[in-house]
Amino acid sequence: MMVLIKNARLYNPDDQGINDVLIVEGRIWAYGKQLHETFLSGSGDWLNAKCEIVDASGKILTPGFIDSHVHLLGGGGEGGYHTRTPEIKLTDLTTAGVTTVVGCLGTDGVTRDMMSLVAKARGLETEGLTTYVYTGSYQIPVKTLTGGIQKDLLVIDKIIGVGEIALSDHRSSQPTYDEFVRTVADARVGGMLAGKAGIVNIHLGDGARKLDFLFKAIDESEIPVTQYLPTHVNRNAELFESCITFAKMGGTIDFTGSEDPEFWESLDGEVRFSAGIKRLMEEGVSLDLFTLSSDAQGSLPMFNEKKEFVGLGVGSAKCLLMEIQDSVLRANLPLEVVLRAVTTNPARILKLSKKGRIDEGYDADLCLLDAATLSIDAVMAKGKWMVRDSKPIVFGTFEKKY
Ligand code: ZN
Repeated sequence: MMVLIKNARLYNPDDQGINDVLIVEGRIWAYGKQLHETFLSGSGDWLNAKCEIVDASGKILTPGFIDSHVHLLGGGGEGGYHTRTPEIKLTDLTTAGVTTVVGCLGTDGVTRDMMSLVAKARGLETEGLTTYVYTGSYQIPVKTLTGGIQKDLLVIDKIIGVGEIALSDHRSSQPTYDEFVRTVADARVGGMLAGKAGIVNIHLGDGARKLDFLFKAIDESEIPVTQYLPTHVNRNAELFESCITFAKMGGTIDFTGSEDPEFWESLDGEVRFSAGIKRLMEEGVSLDLFTLSSDAQGSLPMFNEKKEFVGLGVGSAKCLLMEIQDSVLRANLPLEVVLRAVTTNPARILKLSKKGRIDEGYDADLCLLDAATLSIDAVMAKGKWMVRDSKPIVFGTFEKKY
């Protein structure tokens, strides 16, 4: 199967102007100016008939989004059994522009386990996405699939790291520093032996200890700062300031997106993504050192206009695009800066070598966005169209087709 997308404004994530992109058998074969003319003119009818040509004039073409923190099996449960959130569906991700996802368990590592998480990730892969998982849950000692973190990393292809380990949170397992640093050491060695990131995804709560364990480990152990990916860094202003210090040391920090940044900012002092990026830029932090994930399928308290609690909702991967739109259209941040958070930056920290860019030999994961509204027009995952004309065209096995 061949697809030639022509006349698209390519953000890779840097703005590369109007380009054509040729996709062959699920991979990017080439991109460049007027590829259409050079490649297809003069070639026979046979080749022309085999190649789908898509005119993307007036549209923005970006790499597919990488979401590094999603509760694929559902999460929550902190208000009792009936508050366990449902599993994610294929189109929940594809309609949000997500083509690569990393699944994790959360507070509940008992009724949700690694066996089911790996199975769920495999299911989504069969349905068309690229999927990985972290081994473990909030808890230390980590409940692994094979009996050890290093074993999990070495023998289970889908496992690329450990997490989400909870720190500075009343729901954490209250690990000691020694337990924590030994867990990170296992992730590092397992990752090295398996040629994977071995990243430790760390859930930061709103406790006063913030990143204390990370700073101590960076100071006292030989483990480099690049082994950690702390998340929910924008939970509150005070925590975020500590995370800026971590980023200045060369660490990558992960923002959690919100579907209603204004509301959450007003309610509990959350730092909205766009404001956080501006702060990092002011502080001279490298533009390589931040990512944005959705925490999708986590439980979300809902409030009415009077800010009264009215029930529980479920987090959605759509928050990634909403944060990008808010950052570019309202906060006037450059799209090429903001896009790094869901493309090249997560690809680098997670060591996903064929992801995060539109380049020769890379997987054909991409999004076409409306240039004015930045809304999703089309999404391709591994060379297959998943969304066209803003509607899903590939559905999960048990999804209602609409
Ligand atoms: Zn979390």
